[in-house]
Amino acid sequence: MGATLEHPLESLETSKWFKLICGASFQDLEVIRSLTLVYTLAGADCLDVSADPAVIETVRQTLELAESLAEQAWQRGYLYSGKPWLMVSLNDGEDVHFRKANFNPQNCPDDCERPCEKICPIDAINTQGVIKDKCYGCGRCIVVCPLELIEAQPQPAIKPDLILKQIEKGYIQAIEIHTQVGHQVQFAQLWDKIRPHHNRLKVLAISCPEHPEAIAYLQEIYQKIAPLQCPLVWQTDGRPMSGDIGKGTTHATIAYAQRLGESKLPGYIQLAGGTNSYTVEKLKALGLRNQISGVAYGSYARSIVGKLLTTIDLSSMNKKIPKSLWQATQVAHELVAQFKQTA
Ligand code: SF4
Ligand code: SF4
Repeated sequence: MGATLEHPLESLETSKWFKLICGASFQDLEVIRSLTLVYTLAGADCLDVSADPAVIETVRQTLELAESLAEQAWQRGYLYSGKPWLMVSLNDGEDVHFRKANFNPQNCPDDCERPCEKICPIDAINTQGVIKDKCYGCGRCIVVCPLELIEAQPQPAIKPDLILKQIEKGYIQAIEIHTQVGHQVQFAQLWDKIRPHHNRLKVLAISCPEHPEAIAYLQEIYQKIAPLQCPLVWQTDGRPMSGDIGKGTTHATIAYAQRLGESKLPGYIQLAGGTNSYTVEKLKALGLRNQISGVAYGSYARSIVGKLLTTIDLSSMNKKIPKSLWQATQVAHELVAQFKQTA
């Protein structure tokens, strides 16, 4: 009898890979804990989280909790299949995923109607300014401030050594490299550090924003990393961090994935950046569903369970499982099943 594949790899093989993006800059541990729990129980294959050690530890503990609830999840018809792989991101240069908004509230006029606060999808702005742990750098507040008081602050570069130690300990299973057209030199420098360790990875993902020359760039990158000793996922980052804005945001990632598919570049193709409830419908309408190995959902996945998450009190879990946990898991399940059950 042949060896059975680990469930996330099997999901990639069968075009059922579901990744939850918590966010490379998102560090709100309470929300991360709840998001991890509901999407794991719903059947996520991979959790993409900040490389912050506190975040990684929180997620690891939550995965143990999810395992203890597996039986109940199955009884309710959810698709939990074991622990998802834990992925963290590294960037080879400045990147929108690795930034936070910042402003000095003392400079704000008293009569400002505070459009920044209203537009923030995650309530990361209050009268004190930006709540750093909550901000994931979507940039929406920056463009609405009438006085242009809000700036984007790049986050300190993550040291690959820190991540490599976490891989050696088995705490994380996957790395995603964020690169972009024109970064050949920076990518090569980062890859030289990762290469000696990459055989320990369950999967390597490469994320690149949409660009007219993106396919040629990815082909060049592939020449640099081949031959690989782990599976490879291409993340077609269409319109970053926008899936909760409206259904049309999904078009860019699908068109990008279609071009990548036509290029025959080896590796699994996974959508991201603008994905939402419309993504699967659009894939099916274009006849592309089975050419796409996976979908990653970030801001949309968060937005649909947002209000329920704030009512989940995990500290009381040992006494009684809060009803809101299963309500949120049901919402997450519908998104996960929409993709997994249409392959
Ligand atoms: S709108 Fe986006 S960038 Fe601004 S504070 Fe909120 S999460 Fe951060
Ligand atoms: S929109 Fe600009 S001026 Fe108004 S509260 Fe926000 S940061 Fe201050």
